Formats: sequence, C-alpha cells, structure tokens
Amino acid sequence: MLTLRRLSRAPRTPYLRGRARCLHSSPRVYNEKFNPTEVERAEDEVDVCIVGGGPAGLSAAIRLKQLEREKGNGRELRVVVLEKGSEAGSHILSGAVIEPRALDELLPEWRNGDHPLTQPATRSRMLFLTEGFSIPLPHPPQMNVRGNYPGHKDSFITSLSGFTRWLAGVAEEHGVEVYPGFAGAQLAYGGEDVVGVVTNEVGLARDYTMKSSFEPGMRFRARATLLAEGAHGSLTKEACRKYRLRDKPAEGSTEPVVNPDPQAQTYGFGLKEVWQVPPEVHRPGEVVHTLGWPLSYDTYGGGWVYHMADNLVSVGLVVGLNYKNPYMQPYREFQRMKHHPYMRALFDVPGAQRLAYGARTMTSGGLQSLPARLHFPGGALIGCAAGMVNVGKIKGTHNAMKSGMIAAEAAFDAIMEQGEEAPVAPVDMSGYTKAFRDSWVYDDLYEVRNLKPSFGTSLGIFAGAAYSGVDSLLHGKVPWTLRHSKSSLDETESASRHKPIDYPPFQPPLSTDLMTSVALTGTNHEEDEPVHLKVGLKSLREASAEKEKPLTQDCNSTADARREHVRVNVEQYAGLLQRACPAGVYEYVDVEKGQESPEAYNGKKLVINSQNCIHCKLCDIKVPTQDVTWSVPQGGGGPKYSKRPPACKSFSAPE
Ligand SMILES: Cc1cc2nc3c(=O)[nH]c(=O)nc-3n(C[C@H](O)[C@H](O)[C@H](O)COP(=O)(O)OP(=O)(O)OC[C@H]3O[C@@H](n4cnc5c(N)ncnc54)[C@H](O)[C@@H]3O)c2cc1C
Ligand code: SF4
Repeated sequence: MLTLRRLSRAPRTPYLRGRARCLHSSPRVYNEKFNPTEVERAEDEVDVCIVGGGPAGLSAAIRLKQLEREKGNGRELRVVVLEKGSEAGSHILSGAVIEPRALDELLPEWRNGDHPLTQPATRSRMLFLTEGFSIPLPHPPQMNVRGNYPGHKDSFITSLSGFTRWLAGVAEEHGVEVYPGFAGAQLAYGGEDVVGVVTNEVGLARDYTMKSSFEPGMRFRARATLLAEGAHGSLTKEACRKYRLRDKPAEGSTEPVVNPDPQAQTYGFGLKEVWQVPPEVHRPGEVVHTLGWPLSYDTYGGGWVYHMADNLVSVGLVVGLNYKNPYMQPYREFQRMKHHPYMRALFDVPGAQRLAYGARTMTSGGLQSLPARLHFPGGALIGCAAGMVNVGKIKGTHNAMKSGMIAAEAAFDAIMEQGEEAPVAPVDMSGYTKAFRDSWVYDDLYEVRNLKPSFGTSLGIFAGAAYSGVDSLLHGKVPWTLRHSKSSLDETESASRHKPIDYPPFQPPLSTDLMTSVALTGTNHEEDEPVHLKVGLKSLREASAEKEKPLTQDCNSTADARREHVRVNVEQYAGLLQRACPAGVYEYVDVEKGQESPEAYNGKKLVINSQNCIHCKLCDIKVPTQDVTWSVPQGGGGPKYSKRPPACKSFSAPE
C-alpha cells in the first residue's frame, strides 16, 4: 500500500465517505529503467480534480465546497487541488494590482478578516519613457485604479504569490484538499473522455532508472477535471490538441461556444523584481505604467512600478513575445530599464535593496484567442489556461477567479445530476461554456478586444496607443472586432536581418548579471532528475506512447533532433534561447577537440541546465523551430516566489 507522498497541512483521512482509497502499486525493482506502460499506479477517486493551485483553481475549489454546503443536501464532494510548486503560490510571480470583483462575490466578508490586500491602489499614472526623460501620458480609463469603470470601485496592490497562499488557506478551511508538490503530468483517458489526471513520477534518475526513492505517479480519477495551469499549461496544450478546442466549430454544431472564430494565443513575457526602498521615495498605493524606452517602437510591451505596502516596490517589464530581433535579451532590456533617471530615483538610492526576481509568460490574445469551447468531455479549462488576461487593464486575476467559480457551478450541477451512488464517471461541462458566455468576464474581455490587435500594424506602438485611446473612451462599443495580425503571433526574424544589441554594462546593485538574479528565485530541481525540457518535434510522452517503448531520454531527444535544433537555432537565429531564457537554462557551447558528438552541428552543441528553470514557459512558445516541449518536472521543484500573507482566519468557512 502507498500513502500520499506529501500532504498539505492537515493529515488526511484515507477514506472517502466510508470507501477506502485504493492505493495499489506494483512491486518495484530499483536501478532498472522505468517503463510507464508496465507500472501499476495508486489510484484515488475524487469528485473534482483541479490541476493548478492558482487564483482560478482555488476559487473553483472554494466555490464547489460552498455549493456543497448550500445545496448539496448533505452530500460531501471531494475536491482536490494539485499544485506543482512546493507551496501554494510559490510558482506565481506577479506583483499585482488586483481588482477584487470576483473576490467580493466569492468571499463577501473577506474585508472583515485577516487578508493580504492591505495596500489599496490610490492613484495611477502612465509615462512615456525616452532614454533620458519621462513624459506623462493620459491614462486609459480601464487602467485607472479607482473610479466608475466596471470593476474599479477599488483595487489593491499585493504579492499575487502571497494572495494565492492565503486563498489556499481559505480553501483548506472550506475542506478542499490542497496537495502542493504534486504536478499533473498526464491526462487520464477513459475512451474519449478525460477521467482524471496522473501525477508525476518522483525518484527517477536522469537516465530514467528508478532510484530507491522512486514512487510512481498517482492516478486521480475524477468526475470533473479542471485545468487551471495558468498561461501555456502542459496538460492544457494536450487537451486543446486532442479535443480541437481551438478549431472553428463544425458547421451545424449545436455545442455551446464562447468564440466562434478562435485565433492563436498571443503572449507577453513579464520580468519582475521586488525592491525594498527607503520611506523618502516610497509612495504607497501608487501605480505607474510605462511605454517606450527601453523597447524599440516596433516591440509591444511596457513597464510598471507598483508601490506596495511595507516599503516594497514591484518593478517589471512586459515584452510581447512576437518580438522580431533574435538578438534581443528581455532580461537585459529589463536591467537597462532600471538605468532610466525615473527608476534610478527609486532604486539607486541609499537603503534600496533588491529582494526578489522572477519571470513568467502571460496570455495577451484576449477574447479573440479564447478557445472555441472551454469544456471538453469530462473537464474544462479555467483561468489563464484558457487566456483570461484583460490586456487593457493588464489584469487577469479577477477573470481567472470568476471563470473558476463559473466552472465550479457547472461542475456542481452536473455532479449532482449523476447521483451520489453512481460510479465516478466524467460529467458534461458544457454548462460552463454557456454560462461563461453570459458572464461579466466575457464582457470584460469584449470591451478591450481591439486594443492588442491595434498594436499589430506596421505603425507599431504609436498607432496602437492612438487607436487604443479612442477605443477605450468608447468602452469598446465599436461595431468591429479586429483580428490579431500574423505578426502578433510570431515574427522572429532571421539574425541576418539584425545587428547584435550593445547592452550597457551592469551597474550592481541597480542591475546585475543573470545568475545573481536567478539566485534570488530560490529555484531548485534535483541535480540528477530527468530533464523536463525536451528537444524534438513531439513531447517525450507522445513519442513514447507512439513507439510503445519505455519513456527514456532517447525516444525523442535524439542526437538527430538536437543537432537539427542547433543547426537552425544557431545558424539562423543566433541562438535565441540562450538570450531569451530568463534563467540561463540554454547554452550553445563549443565542442572541444576530441569531444565530438553526434548532437553537435558545426562545432556547437546544446546544453540544457534544467535545474535552473523557473517555469516561465517562454522556450516552449518562442523557440523558432517549435521543437522544445516544457513538461512538468518532479513535483515541488522550481522557483520559490513567496511573501508570507497574514495568518488565515476563518470568516466564512464551513463549520
Ligand atoms: C508579469 C505578470 C504581471 C501580471 N500582473 C497582473 C496584475 O497586476 N493584476 C492582475 O490581476 N493580473 C496580473 N497578471 C496576470 C495574472 O498573474 C493571471 O491572470 C493569474 O495569475 C491567472 O491565474 P490562474 O490561476 O489562471 O493561473 P496561475 O496564477 O498561473 O496559476 C497556475 C498554477 O498552476 C500551477 N500549475 C501549472 N501547471 C501545473 C501542473 N501541470 N500540475 C500542477 N500544478 C500546475 C502553477 O504552479 C500555478 O501555481 C500578471 C501576469 C504576469 C505574468
Ligand atoms: S527553460 Fe524555458 S521555462 Fe525554464 S526558465 Fe528557461 S525559458 Fe523559462
């Protein structure tokens, strides 16, 4: 018998409504290669399995337990949240301005208890930066932090990581089982349906031999599987592909849709630091957004400076991932941004100290890039797994939370219809897609639908800013919907069309080299665990399944695939990933004499320092050859973005 590898805080009962969890496992032979086709997994039955303990997943979980209490007629629902980070919130980056609209609906009494939203956003400004000056611009109304704009009664500046950890505490008080350190590695299928999730193996060596600490992943069998992995989730990718969620609905189809003409997702890439600054320069509650320098005029993006509580300031830069120049280094652009006089006045002063660094991709395609359907047989996509960021506001948390709540309501109704004694079988989640279409999240995204596409013309940010200003004043009430241009998706150009960028030297402590910053992320993966970044046109699991052979390094990341990767990426794109990865994971190194390798091309080979990976997902999206697949590593690894929230205190939890 196996026990769960790591439970969150309270010990869990191994029984579900009197039914023992079946935790079988095959006897294992250590020091042998792991073969996924032979392993017998521990299995657990739950009502709802949620993959991802971010704002969307936790809000869905809390809402389910509320519904159980309100109208479950005594029926108890088992709701499990799997989170790959070592703690809830440890993989969540943003120093965020949060609109509390969804939180007010989910936990109407939250303001009466201890909570991490202690710093109201009091004023907001927009600046256009040139290298030496900052020019105030009118702030688009949806970016204002207070006022009559929908959802802008008030907003708060906080650490989203701390907020998430607090929400996880609330979820546990409601009876949700939150399992940090568990990554959803595979969807479990039953015929055409998703019937749950298989978690990742632990205790495998890099060459896939089983160490003495080896434990196979568990299978969580669920009536509803909600994918809440945030931007560019690995299971989400699989579900979208298998169920063609991004295809136009077939003619005559009666299935509910949220987007009849889905376009590909577009992404921004955010790099962020948290600084402690002296009180003289701290303006608690101030929210500043910047446009212009250091980014070139044809690069979508901008910076932010949020003055949080406790003399903390979040500073960051978002770069549109459709950038053209492969010599561009988002990390260096961000470090350079802090050399601007406006930033120096905050961070280059006695007493200022950098505390944290991190990076993460965010969805930016908005309404046009939502999948056609948010549901699939047995489950659904919620939050930024589907792409819920309102680019006009640069906020996604409110929409992620609300979409989770809507999905929870649909899942609850479908589960109640099944009846308590029915065997655990997948439910129909189409009610979620229908309800989402009628929700304020849809309206929120509809209103700003034309802003991002307007930046995709050859006139760059000037045309985008001008159009967006007018469109915003009209609250998006124009009779057209602009399409994302091809260039919004990916426009990486060959290095031969560009010159290397001459970045200024670092000026520590204001700006530092990459590895000094990565050290602040607290990132850790076991030195000898399998590399979770696969090079080859198919993911390792796909390749393994197709070839019906054991999951080993060589079934996809072949020497041929790696050599071809080096050939195109180094010769044509100047080794883009080496410049773009915010954690120095990829290196194209010279092959020394006598060390020739079949993986090398023209004297260069690829080295992947996967233990540094901070799970931002940039490589999976931006690599020009589209041959890198990010898969979940052994659970619990990765960054440790954290800020402790106040102790969680009950205010509306069930007795
Ligand atoms: C740089 C940046 C700045 C932002 N600023 C703001 C802002 O100011 N205001 C705002 O409202 N929004 C902001 N956002 C957007 C906001 O972060 C997202 O909209 C929000 O976090 C989405 O919530 P989510 O729960 O859908 O996904 P996430 O918050 O990304 O949470 C997903 C969770 O799932 C986990 N996970 C992923 N895959 C797996 C797996 N296979 N198994 C187990 N666990 C998994 C992750 O570790 C993570 O904890 C910003 C985003 C970025 C990147
Ligand atoms: S390896 Fe990929 S996911 Fe990991 S930090 Fe680098 S770019 Fe991000």
